[in-house]
Amino acid sequence: MKKTHIAKMAVVWLALVALSLPLIYLLDTQMLDTPDHLIAYDLGIVAYVWWLATIYFSTRPRWLAQQIGLPSLYLLHGLLGVLALVAATFHKFIAFSMFPLIKDTGNIAWYLEIFMIVYAILFLSGWLVDWVQWVRILKGILERHVFKHQVSIWLHRLNWLAVALIWLHVQLIARLNVPGFRLVFNAYTILAILAYAVWKIRWSVAASAGVVVENEAIDDQLQKVVIRLSTTQPAYQAGDFYFVSFRDKNNVSYETHPFSVASAPRQNGNELTLTIHRLGDFTRKVSQIPVGTAVKLAGPFGQFDQEVSAANGPVILYGLGSGIAPLLSLANQYAGQKKLHLIWSGPQVNDEYYQQQLASLRKQGVQVDAQHHRFDETQLCDLISDAEVAEGQVIIVGSANRVLKVRHTLRQRGFHKG
Ligand SMILES: Cc1cc2nc3c(=O)[nH]c(=O)nc-3n(C[C@H](O)[C@H](O)[C@H](O)COP(=O)(O)OP(=O)(O)OC[C@H]3O[C@@H](n4cnc5c(N)ncnc54)[C@H](O)[C@@H]3O)c2cc1C
Repeated sequence: MKKTHIAKMAVVWLALVALSLPLIYLLDTQMLDTPDHLIAYDLGIVAYVWWLATIYFSTRPRWLAQQIGLPSLYLLHGLLGVLALVAATFHKFIAFSMFPLIKDTGNIAWYLEIFMIVYAILFLSGWLVDWVQWVRILKGILERHVFKHQVSIWLHRLNWLAVALIWLHVQLIARLNVPGFRLVFNAYTILAILAYAVWKIRWSVAASAGVVVENEAIDDQLQKVVIRLSTTQPAYQAGDFYFVSFRDKNNVSYETHPFSVASAPRQNGNELTLTIHRLGDFTRKVSQIPVGTAVKLAGPFGQFDQEVSAANGPVILYGLGSGIAPLLSLANQYAGQKKLHLIWSGPQVNDEYYQQQLASLRKQGVQVDAQHHRFDETQLCDLISDAEVAEGQVIIVGSANRVLKVRHTLRQRGFHKG
């Protein structure tokens, strides 16, 4: 992790800690109770404020995503949820109430949050599935039959119910009628609801961001979709990704799915090329989308371009399977300007479409090593020079568990953790 990134994350965490302080101050300076009980109430406040923050983060605020990147934003969202649950657990076991309704609203919210966090860790995060193979297999089976991604997203929205219960829990506690407390508490709640509502409404009323101008099969697994952007769209950068919704209810749902841009802005800044792996319910139907279909886009997101444009030494772009998409975008954008080394393994390598692209990149001075089968450790040691290890940086893209394996191999080759 880069130092600037660590500094930005530290600022965000400080802001998150500071967010609860006005409520804690109002309560602790005005309510008469034992220090133990006050700490318990403070922890309850921290939990609630952080759950509101997770709601705000779920709107993927662009100003923040541009600073810390969407993966860090998701990480923050997940960690906050877990830490809020830890705080809520202490609150539950230390705080005391005689009134059944106060206890019940708090308890139900607590059980709901436990369920949601365990569920999200399994189905929505990579915290377990990227590291433990049998959990990954189990998730795959469950996702195929019952807990599809969209079901998980809907279950995750139970967070709203938990927040509503906690809000009610606080309203029921008469002793919290200390000056200013409820005002600030309700203001925080309204701000979170507003941020979420505005995000949802903006998306539903947003005009199309572009239109499909090409949709053809590259091979029996990959589909190439070209989208012409409307003139009002912000420019994208190489290697960015969008959440894409095709507005064609007859063939495919309006769900948003993330896809990387495989084209480079310098080739044609008004058009995006997506290469879509037909592997699930949604992606298998993409081939049926007719040319002329309107498209809504959330994004662009991504920080690869910043990394490559700032690089002084060699840059290794390491693609795993269809993870090559954003790396081709970067390679085409910076070929001839940066010292690039594209390493790619995947069954698509021999497709004519990719062979032409690789040949063109080689002509522009990019070192290309591509093969159908994975590179083993010995091959990687031969492919990557000592100068690259000493001065280079690496961007690896692919399914998370394979990225972790490649990262491990590259560390053994001598790459520094940072
Ligand atoms: C940043 C990013 C960039 C990506 N770029 C590309 C790309 O360029 N080309 C490509 O083929 N694929 C890309 N993907 C993967 C692609 O988003 C999924 O393959 C696709 O959403 C699967 O949808 P499905 O319903 O067809 O498959 P399913 O069988 O339902 O799901 C397959 C896998 O994709 C996950 N998934 C399903 N829906 C979503 C969703 N809405 N959001 C996030 N994950 C989901 C599921 O959890 C599951 O692990 C990218 C993913 C991310 C996170």
